[in-house]
Amino acid sequence: MKEEKSFILVLSYIVLITLAILISSLYIGFTNNTTLINSIILLVTFVFSLVIINILLIIILIIKLFKKNNLNNIESKILYYSVSLYYPLVLTITKITKIDKNKIRLIYTKINNLLIQSKNVKLKPEELLILLPHCLQWSECQFKITNDIDNCRKCGKCDIHKIIELKDKYDVNVAVATGGTLARKWIKETKPKAIVAVACERDLSSGISDVRGLPVIGVVNDRPNGPCINTKVSIEKLEDAIKFFIKGE
Ligand code: SF4
Repeated sequence: MKEEKSFILVLSYIVLITLAILISSLYIGFTNNTTLINSIILLVTFVFSLVIINILLIIILIIKLFKKNNLNNIESKILYYSVSLYYPLVLTITKITKIDKNKIRLIYTKINNLLIQSKNVKLKPEELLILLPHCLQWSECQFKITNDIDNCRKCGKCDIHKIIELKDKYDVNVAVATGGTLARKWIKETKPKAIVAVACERDLSSGISDVRGLPVIGVVNDRPNGPCINTKVSIEKLEDAIKFFIKGE
């Protein structure tokens, strides 16, 4: 199943659960004459009706985004904030229904990327930070690139040397992080106006929600050797993301 369909399926489950609670509340309301209970039922009906309308709106906007990629500013904002609001609940439902969590995380990143790319952004190269995971480095490499990526000797055993070529070509900041703490430290130090982040689906989705307010384009890494070791990244996708931020292409 495609990622957006999995996401919409989970949202549909939330609508059904909300609807079931709503109908149960209305039933209790009809069979009860207590003013307090009726007031609570009225409030529950109001809130849950809003939730259902909001989720149906998200589903319509996701379909529109993936089919036409032309959401206006208000639609983009509604989708961005609504998806962020329901994302933890969506992940919980995913766990119960055994839908692949990575598909949901990937769609969250894709929605985020499409929303960022629908804006007009043009930054100076030094305002952009490329944040890389340490697992991109060849596991037996002896050079410490987490302090300074230029410590790489460009032997070609991993993708780091190609990323340094991109760094030199576009003159952007590039940092390697071993985890969330180091990533936050790099963000604090370089104070970027936007980030291109490379990571797995899980780290990307949590990173994007961590730095809410700062535009991030996420590029999912390839893991031909399994998770967290000798991972790869599409240099083409990385370059496209850099060009979007600094050339507006
Ligand atoms: S390309 Fe750089 S980081 Fe990768 S293994 Fe060679 S020296 Fe190490």
